[in-house]
Amino acid sequence: MRAVTVIPGVPGSLRLLDDYPEPATDEGAILVEALAVGICGTDIEIIEGHYGEAPPGTDHLVLGHESLGRVVEDPTGTLQPGDLVAGIVRHPDPLPCPNCAVGEWDMCRNGMFTEHGIKGLPGFARQRWRVQPRFAVGLHPALREVGVLLEPTSVVAKAWEHIDRIGQRAEWQPQTALITGAGPIGLLAALLASQRGLAVHVLDLATEGPKPALAGALGATYHSEPVDQLDFEPDIIVECTGAPVVVLEAMCKAALNGIVCLTGVSTGGRTIDFDAGALNRTLVLENNVVFGSVNANRRHWDAAADALARADHAWLGSLITRRVPLSDYARAYSPSPDDIKVVLDFTA
Ligand code: BGC
Repeated sequence: MRAVTVIPGVPGSLRLLDDYPEPATDEGAILVEALAVGICGTDIEIIEGHYGEAPPGTDHLVLGHESLGRVVEDPTGTLQPGDLVAGIVRHPDPLPCPNCAVGEWDMCRNGMFTEHGIKGLPGFARQRWRVQPRFAVGLHPALREVGVLLEPTSVVAKAWEHIDRIGQRAEWQPQTALITGAGPIGLLAALLASQRGLAVHVLDLATEGPKPALAGALGATYHSEPVDQLDFEPDIIVECTGAPVVVLEAMCKAALNGIVCLTGVSTGGRTIDFDAGALNRTLVLENNVVFGSVNANRRHWDAAADALARADHAWLGSLITRRVPLSDYARAYSPSPDDIKVVLDFTA
């Protein structure tokens, strides 16, 4: 069968193989035919040779951690043939650590977790894959066109759950949320903020293209000025750019008792001049919390499936700005400035 692969650490090794082996039954009882795979910055980092790890005993890694498929067979009866399904990205470490032992693999303590299409497990960019019931998330049939957004939504569902939990340290009645970055993660974070009834602000450099209208359709106020020039202090900031200046300005901008959640992965390697003492003073005197958030566990995937089912599906569909047939895979992995979410289409 066909599969999109790379040799991790080797730039330019992206290939579409025709003869990739069928998924082994020990991968899971549920056999799935792929419908779509979403592409994100992590895939590009892997293709450029900066990230990623092949499964033991092989040089090749099948890409794809943002999945949508249709169940072919499930002898366990958890899902029915024809159901829409996505596969959870991260699997717990084998020891397991205290967090993996209770299903909180997104908080793995020893780094020995594996991730489909990223670290030690084949990804979902292959025509058929298998999944164990506990890592299979069923989707509402109405999500056929947009269910591939489940994985990035799971990442923001976790971020929002942790914001809620941190808020519980004291009386907490947040009113305003600022989302920095209007890529897929930022817009999905804004969707979840609007579902929580918050006054939502989205900030991005883009003044043209679809981003201002996509934020506006959520009822959010759109800003393109620097964070430090905003004339209000948000209770919650979800930082989704990873751009160092935006990250630092966001950390300084939250209101008293405010929470800043960092989700953007910076490349690192560049230094900027910054008054660390002033930041510390602000965080202490304002009871601010700044925390990082990555990945998602089963609870967050289920919450994300629920959030997508409740969202406006036409709005979700407009986040997918390109659908590229599998045969044209290289084009899908070449980012263009107008992209929000690019999807590899296994049915075309
Ligand atoms: C994925 C996460 C993963 C992270 C680090 C992100 O692109 O969405 O699931 O944990 O990369 O590998």
